[in-house]
Amino acid sequence: MQSPNQPLVDNRDVAEMVETLAGFGAWGETGVNRLVYTPEWLAAQDQVAAWLAEAGLEVERDAVGNVWGWLRGTDRGKAIVTGSHIDTQKPGGQYDGALGVVAAIAAVKALKETYGTPRQTIGVVSLCEEEASRFARTNFWGSRAVVGAIVAGEADKLRAIDGPTMAEIMHDLGLDPARIPDAKRDDIAGYIELHIEQGPLLEEQGLPVGIVERITGYKQFWLDVHGQANHAGTTPMDIRRDPMAGAAEIISGVINTAHRMGRPAVTTVGRMTVEPNGRAVVPERVGFTVDARHPNEEQRQLLLERHERLWTEVAERRGLDLQVRVDSDRQPCECDPGLVAALAGAAEAAGIPSMRMNSGAVHDAMQFSAICPVAMLFVRSRNGISHSPDEFTSVEDATAGTEVLARALHAIAY
Ligand SMILES: [Zn+2]
Repeated sequence: MQSPNQPLVDNRDVAEMVETLAGFGAWGETGVNRLVYTPEWLAAQDQVAAWLAEAGLEVERDAVGNVWGWLRGTDRGKAIVTGSHIDTQKPGGQYDGALGVVAAIAAVKALKETYGTPRQTIGVVSLCEEEASRFARTNFWGSRAVVGAIVAGEADKLRAIDGPTMAEIMHDLGLDPARIPDAKRDDIAGYIELHIEQGPLLEEQGLPVGIVERITGYKQFWLDVHGQANHAGTTPMDIRRDPMAGAAEIISGVINTAHRMGRPAVTTVGRMTVEPNGRAVVPERVGFTVDARHPNEEQRQLLLERHERLWTEVAERRGLDLQVRVDSDRQPCECDPGLVAALAGAAEAAGIPSMRMNSGAVHDAMQFSAICPVAMLFVRSRNGISHSPDEFTSVEDATAGTEVLARALHAIAY
C-alpha cells in the first residue's frame, strides 16, 4: 500500500509516451500533423492499443476507430472513462488531445500496478477525431459516434480537404460507415478528460492544474451585409450605402461589447469576405463570422442580445440589408459536482495546487455530457499557446495533472 503522499504516477511514463506519440506525424522540431484516418494517425492508434495491452487492459476498437482499454472491475455496472483525442491541427503541437490519452494510460497503469483490480470498471479512450482539421464540416467525430450524434448518411456527405468522402476513407481502412451506430455506448457512468488549458490563466496564477467547472457555451454566426457598390472617387460619402462601414461598426461593436462585459465573455470575428474586393470600389457585400462565447448561460444570452441589438441598429441606421445565419448554438456544459469534488480532493491529497476554472474551448467532454456526467482537468500551457507547434506543457505539469487524475479515479473506482 502506498503512503498517501508518495506519487502514484511515474513522470518517465508520461514523458516517454508524449515523445513517442509525437513521432507519429512529426512536423518540424516540435509540431505534429496527424489528421484522422491517415497512416500516421493509424500508427498512433496502434501504439495506443499496444500500450493499453501492455498495461493489462482489454483492448477494443469501435466502428469509427476509437481505441478503448478496459480495466474490468469486480462490479458489473457502468464504467468511469477517461481519455481524449488523438488527431491534431495541421500542424498542431504534441499535447492537445494527445496528453489526455497519455495521462489516461499512465494513470490507469499506475492504479493497476499499485492497487490491482478496481471495484468499478475503468475505461481509457483514444478518440479518433476532434479537431475538424481534415473535414472542415465535422468535428467530434469520435465522441459523437460514442453518444450516437452522427446522423444517418453524414459520412457520405462529409468531404475531406484532400478530396474523398468520410465514407470512402473509412472503407479504405476497413471501417464500414453503415456500422457507425454500433459505436454508440450505454456502459459509461462518467467521463473525465485531462487536456492542456490552451489559455493563459493557469500560467497567470502560477498553478500547474485547473479543475473545470463549466465548458463554455457558444453561438456562431455568418453575417452578410449588403449595400450599394459604387465608384470610390465619385460617390459622395453622405449618399453611400457602404457595407464596409457597417461591417466595421458591427465588428468593433461586438468585440468591444465582450471586452466591456469582462472575462470570461469573448467575441471574435475571424473570417471575412468582401465583394467585389477592389481598391477603388465601395463594396457591394461584406460577409464575416461572429463567434461569441460565455460559460454562464444567462450571461451568454445577455452577450448575444447585445450583439443582435447592435447589428440590427447599425444596419437600419445605415440603410444596409443584413442577413444573419446561425451556424451553431450550444449552451454551456456544466461539469458534474461529484466528479469535480473527486478531482479537487485528489489534487489536495496529492499536495498539488489547483484552481477552479471554466473552459473557453469546447472539448469531447461536452459531447459525452449527452450520455453521462463529465468533468475536465486542465494542465498549464506555456504562454497559453495551442493549435501550434509552439504549444508546450512541462513534464512536471503533465505528471501533476496525471497524478490528480489517477487519485480521482482511485477515489471513484476503488
Ligand atoms: Zn483538444
